[in-house]
Amino acid sequence: MRIEHHPLPCSSLGTQRTVTSLHFGVAGARPKVYVQASLHADELPGMLVAHHLRRRLLEAESAGALRGEVVLVPAANPIGLAQRLDHRPLGRFELGTSENFNRHYPDLATLAWERVGAALGPDAEANVQRVREAVRQALAERPAATELQGLRLTLMRLAVDADVVLDLHCDSEAVLHLYSETACWPQLEPLAAWLGAETVLVADYGAGGQPFDEQLSGLWSQLAARLRAEASQAPLPQACASATVELRGEADVDHALAAQDAEAIVRYLQQIGVLAGDPGTPPPPRCTPTPLAGTEILRAPHPGVIVFRAPVGARLQPGDAVADIVDPMSDRVTTLTAAHGGTLYARSRERYAIAGLEVAKVAGARPIRSGDLLSA
Ligand SMILES: [Zn+2]
Repeated sequence: MRIEHHPLPCSSLGTQRTVTSLHFGVAGARPKVYVQASLHADELPGMLVAHHLRRRLLEAESAGALRGEVVLVPAANPIGLAQRLDHRPLGRFELGTSENFNRHYPDLATLAWERVGAALGPDAEANVQRVREAVRQALAERPAATELQGLRLTLMRLAVDADVVLDLHCDSEAVLHLYSETACWPQLEPLAAWLGAETVLVADYGAGGQPFDEQLSGLWSQLAARLRAEASQAPLPQACASATVELRGEADVDHALAAQDAEAIVRYLQQIGVLAGDPGTPPPPRCTPTPLAGTEILRAPHPGVIVFRAPVGARLQPGDAVADIVDPMSDRVTTLTAAHGGTLYARSRERYAIAGLEVAKVAGARPIRSGDLLSA
């Protein structure tokens, strides 16, 4: 294992933060897999999975079983980790700008198109190499003035040429679920099975806000779309499959769960040839993918105490009760129900709702939303 430290630009006099990356296998070996944890810094299960995964990868390395390359960033957001207000962690938005740490990543497909779009030829593998070199170069030349810009650029530079990218997050209270671009699903299907994902949410590029995982897979899906639009015959495969993996809820920080998740990732790495060894047969999938546009978001229509009536993971029929919103001042009680049915994959950790609060999310089979599909 090789350890690299990446200093971020100093946003203020006398401070310096660093991103640390762990590198397993030979640089440049394929497939390359990039895994990062806790980009939203208050979502901690991923950090513990990284801890367990690191040990498994070290064992594999000393056994000579590393065939490809793995880059692991076990704590992807040192800025957010240090943010606290009123004794509480605040790791989703940077306090200085109010920007979500998982938004505003560069549009790699446009960068690649501008640099090499017209030069791509009939050889798919050569095209992949050309595109990777172009975006590596573009990111190397890109300036970063602030600490936040530096963080985004550092993570992007580490991940940009990976064949598979796993961004480890978690929800508030949730079952294990993942998000990916539709184009990546065939490559990620075994991962979802190994992890035992109970919900998979897929969307075409453009779910909103330019999150990390989408820009990395979008490089290929959007560049391919651009080539088609220009009537180019140049072949371009989906050379990166990326996913945001939601490792259950914020409080699900547990050695047994983390070891199980690390084991699932190891099996997947064996299956795609990054690690030697027979992964065995993946367990049967626990869900079929549903459209991100099919997620029903249940909101509190008025303030009150949230009393859940269904656990996370519940398979709901249309009309099933999810939670009561109880206003003890007026004695008003409103029962939130799932209009369309589906899996209750995430719900709020808070038990007091202000009006409009997102109380629960239900993965339905049919699209019911459009526009910006991700939460703030
Ligand atoms: Zn997150």
